[in-house]
Amino acid sequence: MSLVTATKLAKTYRAGDIDIPAIKGIDFAIEPSSFVAFVGPSGSGKSTLLNMVGCLDHPTSGTLKVLDTDIATLDRSAAARFRGDNIGFVFQDFNLIPVLTVFENVEYPLRMVQRWPADKRRAQVLRLLEAVGMADQADKRPDQISGGQKQRVAVARALVSQPKLVLADEPTANLDHDTAYHVLELMKKMRDEFGTTFVFSTHDPKIMGEAEMTFTLEDGRLENGAHHA
Ligand code: ADP
Ligand code: MG
Repeated sequence: MSLVTATKLAKTYRAGDIDIPAIKGIDFAIEPSSFVAFVGPSGSGKSTLLNMVGCLDHPTSGTLKVLDTDIATLDRSAAARFRGDNIGFVFQDFNLIPVLTVFENVEYPLRMVQRWPADKRRAQVLRLLEAVGMADQADKRPDQISGGQKQRVAVARALVSQPKLVLADEPTANLDHDTAYHVLELMKKMRDEFGTTFVFSTHDPKIMGEAEMTFTLEDGRLENGAHHA
């Protein structure tokens, strides 16, 4: 069973009287434990697509199944629960909470979504901080660490509640090339270690080589199906 399956998936935004077709009927499948990129220029539909896979937005037509759930059937609260149970997010601008320490940022989803006992929670946070090489920075605040380190913390936070799927919309757009490369290597290592599926987007052709499979978006359509590395 594929982890994500899209069939004739389409999304059209409505702005006043104008329809803006952002995703124009695409088919794809993403297998468990894969490391996949959606690549394309700005405006090609990457964020629209990732938002639907992340159950943040509904398709206009077609179907999108994530973990065998047709996401169109989820109302707001069911979608929030589904995300909390199954999906982690990594953002372009890191989205760490500035007043919390590195440790507290990674702990945050466990406090919000699942009621883990304090000792188990602490052990899980430390495990993830060690996995991303940030255990020795646990007491720092986001403004005391570099961009690359922030994204490592964000990867730990995305993984802390053990989701099946991590979505990262342009996770390297605010990083220099070497740092971007290291963050993607880290994500791949996390995939190897935890079996988590990673789906990221990028407009940077230099970065897309890091993916094991790329889907190229052009004006809301997929070009030539999937490319395997
Ligand atoms: P990308 O992430 O690849 O830059 P987007 O998914 O953000 O592309 O955008 C795809 C298209 O949809 C663009 O034409 C964009 O202007 C349009 N679009 C994105 N979000 C909205 C929205 N909320 N309302 C109207 N149009 C939107
Ligand atoms: Mg985008």
